[in-house]
Amino acid sequence: MKPLEKLKSKYTGCMVGAAIGDALGKQNEGRKREEILSRGYVTDYGKAEAGCPGEKLGAGQYTDDTEQMIVLSQSIIECDGFNAGDFARRIAKWGADAMNDPVRKSLVGPSSAAAITRLNSGISWKEAGSDTSSCGSAMRVAPIGLFYKDMDEIESNAVLSSIPTHNSKGALGGAVAIAIGVGCALLDMGCFEIIKETSIRVSKYDTRLAKKIRLSFEKMEKEPDEMFAELGTSYLVYDTVPCAFYCLSRHFEAPEKAIIEAVNAGGDTDSIACMTGALCGALYGVDVFLEKWLKGLENKEMIEYLANMIFNKSRN
Ligand SMILES: [Mg+2]
Repeated sequence: MKPLEKLKSKYTGCMVGAAIGDALGKQNEGRKREEILSRGYVTDYGKAEAGCPGEKLGAGQYTDDTEQMIVLSQSIIECDGFNAGDFARRIAKWGADAMNDPVRKSLVGPSSAAAITRLNSGISWKEAGSDTSSCGSAMRVAPIGLFYKDMDEIESNAVLSSIPTHNSKGALGGAVAIAIGVGCALLDMGCFEIIKETSIRVSKYDTRLAKKIRLSFEKMEKEPDEMFAELGTSYLVYDTVPCAFYCLSRHFEAPEKAIIEAVNAGGDTDSIACMTGALCGALYGVDVFLEKWLKGLENKEMIEYLANMIFNKSRN
């Protein structure tokens, strides 16, 4: 593959990978690791069980993580770069639509929902963000890492993209982590370099998160049971983001294994796998994913189209 084709494939791989991880991971969202182990690892699409937030979605359908990533990518394309005011308007509209939709309303997390209600009541995007360190801004941020080439620009725009809904130090750091991780993956950096660059930048916002990201790499040889228990798998950035970097580090040469590991981590599996999928796709390109995952994914062509648009714009 020619270098430019390879790079283009990394863009589509990043966004399609995020959606694949999300669609696979939704089947285990909210389930305990022990429960997942007793039933066996999920490796293909299926419906989520009753009680899971995505229970009304079909096999191969993704959740709010990918929906928000799509909204962010559309805003970047429309504005030729990240514009916080435009993005806040779009995410507020998306959230209002989702919360009025019986199938999707249970997908919108509490801190996103509260921020969206504030945005829709006329509060400025600078003031609307929740103070919870949930991973709502980290899970959608990948297109920022694709669009900007300069690491400082990736960092500053990742922060801005978080503020309208998630304005805690942890959430800002989480968004920086995934955006920078994607930016490094596009450059074909090795695992150690990716973790180093990411944790240095995250430490400006949240030293605890930066430390846990380093830990996820240092302890990659430890078994998943032990590491998911140690890192935690809740919806907080302190858990989801390090878990994604652990899955990436442990299976750096085998991205499909990294995604399967994330899908079965327990807890916030759709978001952990969404972030892992974005990192893996940005590293290896879209062809790295299993054929059945690509075929069964909802709106795959639309997501590829958006990734290609970002690719073309980022080259100008
Ligand atoms: Mg979700």
